[in-house]
Amino acid sequence: MRLFGTNGIREVVGERLTAPFVTAVAGGIAKSIEPGRPVVVGWDGRTSSPAMGRLMSATLAMGGHRVIEVGLLPTPAVQYNVTRLDAQLGIILTASHNPPEFNGIKCIAGDGLEVPRDVEERIEASVAAGEGRSVPFDRIGEIRSDAHGAERYVDGIVAQVDVASIARRKFTVVLDCGNGASVPTSPTLLRRLGCRVITLNGHVDGTFPGHLSEPTEANLVDLERTVPALGADLGIAHDGDADRAVFVDASGRYVPGEQTLTLLAREFVRRAGGGTVVTPVSASQSVEDVVRPLGGEVVYTRVGSPVVTREMLRRHAVFGGEENGGLIFPGFQLARDGAMTAAAVLDYLATSGELLHVALATLPKYFLVKEKVHCPVDRRDRVLELVAADVASDGSRVLTLDGLKVFRDDGWMLLRPSGTEPLIRVFAEAKTRERAEFLANDGLDRVRSALQRAGPNPP
Ligand code: MG
Repeated sequence: MRLFGTNGIREVVGERLTAPFVTAVAGGIAKSIEPGRPVVVGWDGRTSSPAMGRLMSATLAMGGHRVIEVGLLPTPAVQYNVTRLDAQLGIILTASHNPPEFNGIKCIAGDGLEVPRDVEERIEASVAAGEGRSVPFDRIGEIRSDAHGAERYVDGIVAQVDVASIARRKFTVVLDCGNGASVPTSPTLLRRLGCRVITLNGHVDGTFPGHLSEPTEANLVDLERTVPALGADLGIAHDGDADRAVFVDASGRYVPGEQTLTLLAREFVRRAGGGTVVTPVSASQSVEDVVRPLGGEVVYTRVGSPVVTREMLRRHAVFGGEENGGLIFPGFQLARDGAMTAAAVLDYLATSGELLHVALATLPKYFLVKEKVHCPVDRRDRVLELVAADVASDGSRVLTLDGLKVFRDDGWMLLRPSGTEPLIRVFAEAKTRERAEFLANDGLDRVRSALQRAGPNPP
């Protein structure tokens, strides 16, 4: 029985996600670890999150575990508290950027990273077997509330940046908290950095009245209008659990996440005098373009932040992240971190003396085209094998970590099976839109041609 996806358990509240289900998962978690070091429990701003958090805490305590509840915090803030409080495990009740009817459960290891898959498998096995943990009355665990989680996290970020330089710039920042988990942390952080902070959707509300909690260009129209209307220097928005940050420049233009990834990859490799940047295969070529001349290298992984952070740990990477605004700063912690991203961008602007749009204009320009093509689930592995054989014959550089990525002299295409639908997604990137469209169409044609030749997957 598989419960955990690439980012924890995600289900619809009131359907699969009920009190008995949460209690069953909590019992499985309680069973999978031994009482000793505490378990940190935190949650996002969704309507069901505090109730789910308390079911989690209570079940763990009844199983003999000591619990420290840090309450409503961004996901990276809970991760930071796990290591600072020397916990053996962290549990976060969150559905990140999903629509309001969702919630989820995410487990963090004692090192602050998402738990490896084998730990999730142990929990799944215990849940499937209906196992929990029971202890007699004199070994019930204590549940303690810790109100200092936000302060601890903000202090940690402030220590990472040049506060005096940032404060000298007297930035005016419009911050869209999206009614989510960044409310107790990001406004305080920006004020501590000497910014004038104007918030949008700055109260916690799990019905997300401002906009859906995915920080896309379409969802952030209020921020895009407000930044130029107020003459602010920039806008910052987080997703629901604030492990991501995206930006709007002074003119109200939405900055795609891969540009922030590229800007900060260049900066952290420059500061380190080289080093490794880790990013999923879907990342823009611009990251390699800026990192290589500085003596750095890019290592690609499968898509999904838990694999990126584990690979960063293994390779002692200087920086990493995803093109959706989920950036990882190993000097602070190995977690996607929205508030740390905001602080790092302000730090970059303060030390370079640049405005955001000027800094971004120095990056290589690429165009990304996204397409999809129907492909039955039982034939897609064979289809990708056939396409891989076709392109290998012309000597192209190929990566088969996650789907099939084909590098051309002036761009790339990535063919990835959808996790949930009978589709292969085709992404193509190149220096001109025409060329990116050409590569995407080439990818679509190759999939269609292979589909005609492919039989079912081998058993
Ligand atoms: Mg998130």
